[in-house]
Amino acid sequence: MLNWLDVIKFANNGNPKPSRRVEKTEEEWKAQLTPEEYRVTRQKGTERAFSGEHCAIFEPALYGCVCCDNWLFDSREKFESGTGWPSFTQPVMENAVKYEQDRTHGMSRVEILCNVCDAHLGHVFPDGPMPSGLRFCTNSASLKKVNTTSLRTATFGGGCFWCTEAIFQQLAGVESVVSGYSGGTADTANYNEVTSGTTGHAEVIQVVYNEDVISYGDLVRLHLLTHNPTTLNQQGADRGTQYRSAIFFHSDEQKEIAEQVLSEMKAEFSDPIVTELVAFEAFYKAEDYHQDFYKNNQNYPYCSVVISPKLKKLREKYSDKLKNKENILHGK
Ligand SMILES: [Zn+2]
Repeated sequence: MLNWLDVIKFANNGNPKPSRRVEKTEEEWKAQLTPEEYRVTRQKGTERAFSGEHCAIFEPALYGCVCCDNWLFDSREKFESGTGWPSFTQPVMENAVKYEQDRTHGMSRVEILCNVCDAHLGHVFPDGPMPSGLRFCTNSASLKKVNTTSLRTATFGGGCFWCTEAIFQQLAGVESVVSGYSGGTADTANYNEVTSGTTGHAEVIQVVYNEDVISYGDLVRLHLLTHNPTTLNQQGADRGTQYRSAIFFHSDEQKEIAEQVLSEMKAEFSDPIVTELVAFEAFYKAEDYHQDFYKNNQNYPYCSVVISPKLKKLREKYSDKLKNKENILHGK
């Protein structure tokens, strides 16, 4: 989850790399957009407060960039700020939005733009609700409400996140996997504190998946089959509560499905399953060097000894659930 320090860091030191880029001429944008959309997105305009169509809508939806369809915000992070502009506490992914210092109109603000096509979205302020404390103040004209509600988030703990991340990145329908910590407080959500085993955090992965492609039940099933859910606070040689087997559910529906799968899966294991099933509260992204760890460190002994055999097993047993081989071989 991004906080104000991250925003300032991006605005001052450079933004996260976008997943793709879209560049068009002014004429092409004019032809594609309504005059109001063009004024707001390409000329950094601001719509009149309370005039936008997305202002007072809170039904489940995703909001994409009106210019390039880049997914920007999720209705679950939308809140009533009373400002008359659609307000969110987080972007859907860290690299969805770009941040720039804006010193126009005699103010010092942070402008938010689409990271794919540079469309002006609005500004971000450090006065939003906790836990992020951020208010992404956007123009309705910059946003396209996407009716698909098929993207969902799941959070799993299965021991060292280097392993679980590498496994979930292989699954078809998994859009993104981020390594981090859940179950403790923000103050101690860093690797040094968490590895002490005294902070209450578990090493977890936060997965965004498309439920039209892979069901939550399948994710839970694969989670249980790719780590050892029967050893309390231990995965192989890794011992400590930070390595506990856990499912952090994001909705009552996820809770029910997880309960059902946990009960079904008893038969697969000779020892009782000790996986903790608890309500998701907060996710703290781990340090950058932990992200894509296996992809970036395949020669690291832990990767070749512990992770590579798990991936081999996954490819052999669950090939129907994987992204196609080309993509895996090319590390996508
Ligand atoms: Zn865009």
